[in-house]
Amino acid sequence: SLEPDPLNHDHLAKWRGYYAPNRPSHHKRILVTGGAGFIGSHLVDRLMEEGNEVIVVDSLFTGKKSNILRWLNNPKFEFVRHDVTLPYQAEVDQIYHLACPASPVHYKYNAIKTVKTNVLGTMNMLGLAKRVGAHFLLASTSEVYGDPQVHPQSEEYWGNVNPCGLRSCYDEGKRVAETLTMDYSRQHGVEVRIVRIFNTYGPRMVENDGRVVSNFVTQALEGKPLTLYGDGKQTRSFCYVSDLVDGMIRMMNSEHAGPLNLGNPEEFTVESLAHIVREMVNPNLEIVHMAATPDDPTRRQPDITKAKNLLNWQPKVRLRDGLSLMIEEFRERCNL
Ligand code: NAD
Ligand code: UDP
Repeated sequence: SLEPDPLNHDHLAKWRGYYAPNRPSHHKRILVTGGAGFIGSHLVDRLMEEGNEVIVVDSLFTGKKSNILRWLNNPKFEFVRHDVTLPYQAEVDQIYHLACPASPVHYKYNAIKTVKTNVLGTMNMLGLAKRVGAHFLLASTSEVYGDPQVHPQSEEYWGNVNPCGLRSCYDEGKRVAETLTMDYSRQHGVEVRIVRIFNTYGPRMVENDGRVVSNFVTQALEGKPLTLYGDGKQTRSFCYVSDLVDGMIRMMNSEHAGPLNLGNPEEFTVESLAHIVREMVNPNLEIVHMAATPDDPTRRQPDITKAKNLLNWQPKVRLRDGLSLMIEEFRERCNL
């Protein structure tokens, strides 16, 4: 019909003329917010290698241009230094929304800004998705489960989150981001996807971001003692970045809104991670115990049944293999 169906965004986008007629249909214009960061830059590599046009919007708060250096002269690639708390306009088919500091050190640095990034930033990108009919994927987090009382965590679990704590700017920020995403879907018919990412590691992590894998690898390569916070019995599950990116792309191109857990279900205590890194880099290293961080979740492990069933996805890279790739890159990049 000549009139657009207001709840059919593909239809609306065509009607508004956002589809370039001379572009092959398999070739997409994709916006990646936070694309100069750790996960974002690996996602950008994959999307560019598949032949898409990619726009990265990033404030470079924690991201680096060097992460996307190899694409800067490519005509299909564009980098825009921009803060997502302010509106941004572009004609795109898909939006991967990752912009948000992810490590506790970074998101606590300016907690109010973290809330703004999650709330205003997500609203701005959903508004853009609505206007141009783009499919929108939110990079949410396992932190929406807080300090979980259900184990392992499946998507049905509503979480156990402190609204007033030091981590709340991030946890509650992402929870509102999820709410906004679902409301734009229900109220405006935007095609949305939510993935809840569990601890991810790999090359290009910021070496001093305070996260456990990057800390241990950097400390080990510098020959310093590994710092274990608390008793080290708390658990995490570590997903190698290429596995995660694969799951994110599958989710975007699926028919499912989610929320959907993406992570590696293999669970390790932080202490055992320290032992593995020590054994891989230098068996003589000391392990020192330090004070536990406040609000630190004691257990975390994803239930990925849904991702297995809906996307036929599961991680392939074993912890030791992923660690060895990361250690190699850290050695080279950081001259360690
Ligand atoms: P990162 O810090 O490397 O990347 C975040 C990127 O967002 C950076 O490039 C940063 O400069 C950019 N950014 C931050 N605030 C911005 C703003 N206001 N405007 C524009 N750009 C901004 O972190 P990451 O590990 O790559 O995480 C990417 C996404 O994945 C985040 O949304 C994070 O919450 C989510 N996530 C990551 C993990 C993990 O283990 N790494 C786990 C769960 C969720
Ligand atoms: N941790 C640690 N030593 C470090 C850094 C972190 O023992 O040098 C612990 C931290 O207390 C937490 C776990 O490792 O229990 C994971 O911390 P990280 O900051 O990587 O991620 P998150 O808490 O967000 O899962």
